[in-house]
Amino acid sequence: MTDMLPLVVVHGGAGHVPKERSENSAMGVCSATQAAYRILQDGGSSMDAVVEAVTRLENNPFFNAGCGSVLNVKGDVEMDAIVMDGRTLASGAVSAVRNIANPVQLARLVMDKTSHACLTAEGASQFARSMGVVEVPQESLITEYARMRWRNNLEPSANPVECQMGKMGTVGAVAVDAEGNVACATSTGGMLNKMEGRVGDTPCIGSGGYADNLSGAVSTTGYGEDIMKVTLARLVLFHMEQGQSAEAASDVSLAYMKSRVGGLGGVVTVDPRGNWAACFSSRQMSWAAAQGGTLHHGLYAGEHFTQNIQEHLLS
Ligand code: ASP
Repeated sequence: MTDMLPLVVVHGGAGHVPKERSENSAMGVCSATQAAYRILQDGGSSMDAVVEAVTRLENNPFFNAGCGSVLNVKGDVEMDAIVMDGRTLASGAVSAVRNIANPVQLARLVMDKTSHACLTAEGASQFARSMGVVEVPQESLITEYARMRWRNNLEPSANPVECQMGKMGTVGAVAVDAEGNVACATSTGGMLNKMEGRVGDTPCIGSGGYADNLSGAVSTTGYGEDIMKVTLARLVLFHMEQGQSAEAASDVSLAYMKSRVGGLGGVVTVDPRGNWAACFSSRQMSWAAAQGGTLHHGLYAGEHFTQNIQEHLLS
């Protein structure tokens, strides 16, 4: 079974991608997956791999994380991120953080350099400064697209939650390295036109992500207020602990979130033996996985393309 290792699975958010953005979304997720897979092939850890995948998507303006984040009601960028290491159950998170390009890297520093699991807002910024993380102007994180959506959602008739589920972009990754260690990372600008100071599921351990070598790793996406009600990431792993496969546990947990609280979303899931799933109850979720030299990817329900990784690099 270990020849199935290593592997990485990445998502680019649950919802619906407008046609004109779907190619960029698929390409972004595939190339982040390949970059993370290279790290794993070179003997890197699952933690290094998931942080690399998420960093690349934070730097990609087509996703709602880092540059490209949605704006809060005041027109500002406040971002959330989490990482978790399945070997030790160590985790690190930041919430409502501003003026940094890569919240996932700051979350990792919280895990590695503090005795805490989550730092928020100004305290997170102070910590970033003390670690020498470069502060960036907010303008560098805001795209024209994000500003246009913010403006549209200030209209009295607007429904930002519906609009967000109509345009996705939160990012996340799970991986298993050659040693069988699992890790997860998730990063987001949150919900469109959210209140200032709103913290979603992403930085909440067990909701936005969870990783445990004894069961597996999960990164989630969807309407955070619903994800938190069912602690979606932990729920998936609970079902795996009860003997379900990564795919069955993911599907049953998403179905529970839908029937119990009416929430839609998606997850990427791995177990330490190299089984994986990318599942969603929303209309779409761009996802990609790399394992055994093959790149898998899809966007719509039931879609599953495979390609040799070398071929994909050339195409
Ligand atoms: N879960 C994210 C949040 O609520 C949003 C998303 O996944 O699209 O902040």
